[in-house]
Amino acid sequence: METQVLPFTDDSIAEAGRLILAGEPVAVPTETVYGLAADATNAEAVARIYEAKGRPSFNPLIVHVPDLAAAQRIGEFRDDALELAHQHWPGPLTLVVRLRAGAGIASIVTAGLPTVGLRVPDHPAMQALLGASGRPLAAPSANASGSISPTRAEHVLRSLGGRIPLVIDGGAARRGIESTIVGATGGPLRLLRRGPIEIDAEAASGAGIESPGQMASHYAPSKPLRLRAEAAEPDEYLIGFGVIDGDANLSPGGDLVEAASRLFDLLHSADASPKARIAVAPVPDAGLGAAINDRLRRAAHRA
Ligand code: AMP
Ligand code: MG
Repeated sequence: METQVLPFTDDSIAEAGRLILAGEPVAVPTETVYGLAADATNAEAVARIYEAKGRPSFNPLIVHVPDLAAAQRIGEFRDDALELAHQHWPGPLTLVVRLRAGAGIASIVTAGLPTVGLRVPDHPAMQALLGASGRPLAAPSANASGSISPTRAEHVLRSLGGRIPLVIDGGAARRGIESTIVGATGGPLRLLRRGPIEIDAEAASGAGIESPGQMASHYAPSKPLRLRAEAAEPDEYLIGFGVIDGDANLSPGGDLVEAASRLFDLLHSADASPKARIAVAPVPDAGLGAAINDRLRRAAHRA
C-alpha cells in the first residue's frame, strides 16, 4: 500500500473522511500526538489499527468525539466527570466512564470492558475529521508498536509508511505527550495516567497511578477457557476459527482482521451461554493473531 501524505486542507479532510467511512485507519494530528484514527463503530476498521501498528496485545482505545453532547451519547457522566469535562474540553483530558448500552461502540474499542475512555480533542484537523466522518473515532498514537509517539507527519511516515493509506500533515503536534486519563466509573475519581493536564491530588483522591489499562483490569470471561481446541467437549462452548467450526466462529475464512473484530463479542457470547466452559480453536500467531492469542492466554490463566 502506498501511503499518501497530504497537508491539512478541506480536500484532504474530505478524502480522510471517505477512507474512515470505508473502514480504513487514517493518521491525523491532535494537540497531544498524531493519532491513528478509525471509525469506533466499525470493529474491522478498529482491528486494522492493531494490524497497522503491529500491536501484540489489545488494550482499550480512547474514543474521540466532537463535543460533550456527543460524549454523553456514548458514556454516562457522573457530576464530577461532567465538571472535569466542562473545565478541560476541548483539551488533552480523557475521561473513562461507563459505556452506555446501545451506544454502538465496537467491543474491540473497549477491549470488552463496560467502560469507555472519551476525549474531545482541541485540534482543527482532528475536529474536521470528526465532522467529515460523522463518526466517533478510536485513535491511539500513530506509531508502530514499541516505537515512540509521533509528533510530526514524517515520524508517522517513518513508522507506518506502507501500512496505512493516508497521513494528514498538520505540522508539529503542540503538546507532544499523551492525554491525562481520569477514571470516573465507581468510587472516587482516579488518575490513571499523568499528562498535560494537572489533576490536583484532591480532585483525584484515592488515586495512585496505575499502569495503563489496569483500572478495571482486563476483560476476561468468568468461565474456564481451553486453548487450541480441535473439538468441543460436551460442556464446552467452542469458539471456532477457520475450518474448525464451533458454536460460533471468529472467522470461517481464517481472516485475522475479522477474527480480531469479533473476539470480544464472542467471548461475551460464550460467557453468557448455558455451557460451563469455553474452548477456542487454534489461531495462528502471525500478525493480529499474536494479539488475539495474547488475550486468549490471559483469559485462560486468569486468577
Ligand atoms: P492511548 O494508547 O493513548 O489511546 O491510550 C489508551 C489508554 O487509555 C489505555 O491504555 C488505558 O490506560 C486508557 N483507557 C482507555 N479506555 C479505557 C477504559 N475503558 N478503561 C480503562 N482505561 C482506559
Ligand atoms: Mg502509544
